[in-house]
Amino acid sequence: MSCGLMWFREDLRVEDNTALSAARDAHDKILAVYVIDHAMWQLHDIASCRVAFILRNLAALKEALNKKNIELLVIEIGGFQQLVQVFHDLIDKCQITELYFNEQYELNEARRDARIKKELPISVNSFMDQCIFHPQAILTQSNTPYTIFTPYKRNFLQRISGSINVFPLSSIEKCEQFSFDDSLVSHWKKKKIIFHLTVPVKLGSYHSDVPSEYWPGGEVYAHKRLQHFVEEKINDYQDRRDFPSLKATSKLSAYLACGVLSSRQCFSAVMNENGGRLYGIKEGIATWVSELIWREFYKQILFNFPHVSMNQAFKQQTESWPWRHDSAVFNAWAEGKTGYPLIDAAMRQLHQTGWMHNRLRMVVAMFLTKDCFIDWRWGEKFFMQHLIDGDLAANNGGWQWAASTGCDAVPYFRVFNPVRQSERFDSEGTFIKTYCPELKEVPIKQLHDPFKLPAGLDYPKPVVDYRNTRRLIAALIPKIVSN
Ligand code: FAD
Repeated sequence: MSCGLMWFREDLRVEDNTALSAARDAHDKILAVYVIDHAMWQLHDIASCRVAFILRNLAALKEALNKKNIELLVIEIGGFQQLVQVFHDLIDKCQITELYFNEQYELNEARRDARIKKELPISVNSFMDQCIFHPQAILTQSNTPYTIFTPYKRNFLQRISGSINVFPLSSIEKCEQFSFDDSLVSHWKKKKIIFHLTVPVKLGSYHSDVPSEYWPGGEVYAHKRLQHFVEEKINDYQDRRDFPSLKATSKLSAYLACGVLSSRQCFSAVMNENGGRLYGIKEGIATWVSELIWREFYKQILFNFPHVSMNQAFKQQTESWPWRHDSAVFNAWAEGKTGYPLIDAAMRQLHQTGWMHNRLRMVVAMFLTKDCFIDWRWGEKFFMQHLIDGDLAANNGGWQWAASTGCDAVPYFRVFNPVRQSERFDSEGTFIKTYCPELKEVPIKQLHDPFKLPAGLDYPKPVVDYRNTRRLIAALIPKIVSN
């Protein structure tokens, strides 16, 4: 009997998984694989905490799949040729007749998928699943991709407004039992292909200090987090989301980035909370929906402007800016030792939890690129190496926004004042004192400005003087600042 092969990638869930549902519709037996391509992971600067998170989610996925009689194999490969070899072996030994996966929009992944379609002797079926709309589905009146968020969002909302059933969530029935062919085990052993019938708890050189209990694995847990947010926090999201000490955001980004949760499930949860509608919604809900649309917006930027996947600025004319490549300043920033309390607290939150609050991502990115004038690509890479929710589209979009090299409509050069940001968004210093305990006794009036901190603290001196930022930039790129 024919068997479908489901290739899991950034969609580590059983519920509402488009490719898996299609595989189930066509086959009574399904085998599933997750392929760890170490070369690709390294190329993409995957964070160790994210690797650990993926493994936790794979363990949960395997359990959920077992209940559906689907076996999940985890295979480690060293490059594309081995990937092709693995698929050929599975086709030969397991009567696989079709391959199924959900699309990815990063350039390397998209190219790999196109090659796989050409190389395999079976039909290969790919599906749009990561987004609500395909990155080329929402276009301007002149049929070009949007580069400005607000009109994109308006168009996006128009397309879904009024309909309760825009987000039908799929589910699969139990399959027939699949018996794994043991000869494959010895075959792969001979070929030195590493595979796991039980998901490993750790992988080679990836070591993370981020406590696993901060980010439990599995779609059941992800739904609990979503439900808790929608029931308890979403209504106040608009007012509270910018204050890092309030814990007012959903903290679902890691689950969305690994596809443990789908964006359809998020929209659907919001609509359920709002009587089945996405219009006439409270401000808190509307603001959260906007954030989900930002996620889609940056995915379509990545897809439609592939040069941003290749380390290039969205606005190519900004490539001539003379970014500084000062390792000492960069390292101080990276280690949370800039002498700016809010910046340092934020960077330490990243190290300790694998995550950073959105307001702080903006503040530290703006500080690195505008106050230190360090190349945004250094910051982008460092974030990918440390974030549990590292996502090329959102991360690149965020960094290029901060550096003013991205698809941003503002006609001026945006600069945050790091001290004012600190006074506004952590006025009591609660967040700062959580992550910089050496500043616990500093009176609030002296806490925010590094040049007002009391003498004699065991705390770094400021690496740059924020009061010179405009002058520094004006000297480096005078035309921009005078706009
Ligand atoms: P919530 O406020 O609850 O938002 C809900 C969801 O909407 C998020 O989980 C996320 O999927 C999406 N979202 C929210 N804000 C944005 C945004 N500005 N752009 C795109 N999607 C958004 N987000 C990532 O998922 N991965 C990244 O690697 C990443 N890097 C960033 C780098 C910089 C410099 C900046 C400024 C932002 C970055 N973001 C990134 C966006 C945002 O900071 C995070 O999505 C958010 O902080 C995650 O927390 P949350 O789940 O509590 O978000």
